Amino acid sequence: MSTKAQRTYKTFRLDRTLTAILARRKVPDAQVIELSSGLFEDEYWISLANYKALQRVLRESHEGPVSAPDGQAPTPLRHAIARITSSPYEVYLRGLEARRAVRRLPIPWMVNHIPRTTSNKRRPGERMTPEYLTIHSTGNPTSKALGERSWLTNAQNDRTASFHIVVDETMAVECIPFNEVAWHAGDGNGDGNKKSISIEICESGNRGKVLRNAILLAARILREADMTADNLRRHHDWATKMCPRILIVDANRAHPSQTWDWFKSEVEALL
Ligand SMILES: [Zn+2]
Repeated sequence: MSTKAQRTYKTFRLDRTLTAILARRKVPDAQVIELSSGLFEDEYWISLANYKALQRVLRESHEGPVSAPDGQAPTPLRHAIARITSSPYEVYLRGLEARRAVRRLPIPWMVNHIPRTTSNKRRPGERMTPEYLTIHSTGNPTSKALGERSWLTNAQNDRTASFHIVVDETMAVECIPFNEVAWHAGDGNGDGNKKSISIEICESGNRGKVLRNAILLAARILREADMTADNLRRHHDWATKMCPRILIVDANRAHPSQTWDWFKSEVEALL
């Protein structure tokens, strides 16, 4: 069996299939790229309802292992990825990289729990088995993750409000362990507070990057807690508050396409 011939053949099939997927979805390549870069500036991002289809194609197009040109372990998927190098497939490649990035988050995840003795019972220490992941945005256009963490233990803070983890443009800070209750959902002893992990998304910085980080973080948390995108909730689902406003209030969106449904589908594509 000639490996070279096989590679050529496989690549050919692969390209044709991908082109067919794009054509079927009636998404011109240029439009895919424009949409992605519009959302995330210099970064291409996921149009990854297509990702799963692509992954299937990659799998089905390779019956046997071939060697990877970059010296990595030979896997059909990696080989296929390595062979597709030119636009429009870059969009998909970025998507694949993003999916891998869920495992090793591209930002630091700092654990800096507030003490159990924190005032106003912000860390009640009550055990929780999470069944949901609730998304918030801070409501503060300038605060960053470390500042939000500091506020939880600031003597001026007299509110019984807290959250599990906060994410900004550059990092995530875990403030309360995920198996303990935090007060974030505004539903008293309801499932929002008592059964859900909470992410606060900062409204400062480059919104595309912040949301990218939030999407990756949400996917990672859901995966580790054995949950799916169906377990995602908005703060607004538990209480009347319009939160996360950057995804549900037109005036607070940085880009019209950054909707709650969009956020959910981006997370889902990474699971
Ligand atoms: Zn909220």
